[in-house]
Amino acid sequence: MSTWGDPIGATGLWYRVTERQQGVCHCTGQCGRKHTKTEGFCDHRLPWDRIVVAPTDASISAAEAFLVPETELTAWCEPCLDGARAIARRVEREHRQTESLFNLPEAS
Ligand SMILES: [Zn+2]
Ligand SMILES: [Zn+2]
Repeated sequence: MSTWGDPIGATGLWYRVTERQQGVCHCTGQCGRKHTKTEGFCDHRLPWDRIVVAPTDASISAAEAFLVPETELTAWCEPCLDGARAIARRVEREHRQTESLFNLPEAS
């Protein structure tokens, strides 16, 4: 049911990141939830085949994810990554709207 795809499949990189994070989602609120019950990060332990490795910065698109250094990749659970991507998209859209406002040709 995911629409954003699997940016980084089950490669050596995927295993290294997943192992570093012990199969736990490391979202620290990027998804919009505060995760207060679990000390500020998601702590969602996942079956290994459900873990998504993606850039910590969710605004980076799947197409660019392979350019991100391994240290900036993190393990995500699907709800967190979905939420974080949605927020990142909204921020980007608002940013573009603001820019186009400033780029309006001056009325003469
Ligand atoms: Zn999570
Ligand atoms: Zn989260």
